[in-house]
Amino acid sequence: MTTNRTFTMLKPDAVEKGHIGAILDKISASGFKIVALKLTQMTTADAKEFYAIHSERPFYGELVEYMTRGPIVAAVLEKDNAVEDFRTLIGATNPADAAEGTIRKLYAASIGENAVHGSDSDENAAIESAFHFAGREMF
Ligand code: UDP
Ligand code: MG
Repeated sequence: MTTNRTFTMLKPDAVEKGHIGAILDKISASGFKIVALKLTQMTTADAKEFYAIHSERPFYGELVEYMTRGPIVAAVLEKDNAVEDFRTLIGATNPADAAEGTIRKLYAASIGENAVHGSDSDENAAIESAFHFAGREMF
């Protein structure tokens, strides 16, 4: 099922560097409508669960440390073909490989601290949105 929605997080590095406004502006200018938005901080248990798919990967511990070290901005975004178009807008996981003009090319420091999350499927977009937002917080 195509929902035309995706889920994003502006990760702790992006928030620390003061890039919330610039990144949200770029997201809006790229045709995404913000239908849920909040500043929040993940607990260790939250981050372990959110990234459970990566639990066997060597970077899992660092990833959980990074994602819990400060506030994030969580958001649900709406647009035709939202999941795929948002992955295009953020660029490759490693900013060194990200296309010019993408959010990760502009704002990410490394493959670990890469500024922004984007869901990889409609199914995960729905799961990740529900992880962070109650139904009454999504419009
Ligand atoms: N990550 C990392 N080292 C790696 C690959 C990924 O630290 O070699 C981190 C990075 O923050 C990435 C997250 O783990 O965004 C999830 O990895 P995934 O492969 O799902 O990349 P994404 O979907 O975020 O592009
Ligand atoms: Mg991923």
